[in-house]
Amino acid sequence: MFELPEVVTVARQMHDRLRGEPIVSVDVADERPRFMFLNDDLGAYKSRLVGRKIVEVIGRGKWIRAMLDSGSILLLGEMFGRILYVPPDGELPKKVHAQVTFADGGRLVVTIQAWGGFQVLTPDELAAHPYAGTQGVSAIDKAFTAERFDGVLDGSGEWSRKPIKAFLVHEGNVCGIGNGYLQDILFRAKLSPKRKVPDIARDERDRLHAAIVETMTEAIDKGGRDTEKDLFGEPGGYVPILDRRAKDQPCPDCGTPIEKIAYLGGSCYVCPNCQPAG
Ligand SMILES: [Zn+2]
Repeated sequence: MFELPEVVTVARQMHDRLRGEPIVSVDVADERPRFMFLNDDLGAYKSRLVGRKIVEVIGRGKWIRAMLDSGSILLLGEMFGRILYVPPDGELPKKVHAQVTFADGGRLVVTIQAWGGFQVLTPDELAAHPYAGTQGVSAIDKAFTAERFDGVLDGSGEWSRKPIKAFLVHEGNVCGIGNGYLQDILFRAKLSPKRKVPDIARDERDRLHAAIVETMTEAIDKGGRDTEKDLFGEPGGYVPILDRRAKDQPCPDCGTPIEKIAYLGGSCYVCPNCQPAG
């Protein structure tokens, strides 16, 4: 699934490769996954996209915003799937759920594996978007200081009483963290995913803030995780410390076997010694 480092990587690549090239056609497959989130019919996609150019692509949180010269936004995100560039003479993947073709023959193709958004919005529609329009601070924003993070931890209403896993993966609190990077963030902070936000002490909050910045910055520098593909189909260079490959392997800090636990709708990987449930 695309989290902040993959979003930033693919957005940069889209910006460099697609900017300024007119869009000549758009297609959305009739047969598509149930959780492919569209916002209009194909006719509306065509009238909003064809003849337009991308002027800038911005990656923020779990969403990529391709800004069009019309002022509208092609929005891709919450993506458990692939966003791929296919050159003019290149072969399309077997399954394509959405395709944007450019005047030079290059194509942007989207293949959904489980869920994902492919939408064209006006700025007002983006502002009213239930996810992309309500994003919290990003780990790579200058504004993401320890003090700001403190304020988010304390001031997020019902979220401020939830387990830290639920709190961190919610896009409205700190955007761009999913269940993937969450494992390394919590391991570096030496926190169990089950710890409740109000029970996290001062020094633990600081460790958590540092772990978020460290993990996301390193992963962006390396182009995302090695289990995800970029716009050109290449894997990233960030090897997670804790993912499914780490189960039963020794903890890199203390040697205790890493455990897999099912928690809040997804697997967590933890060192029971370094990350006590409290
Ligand atoms: Zn350990």
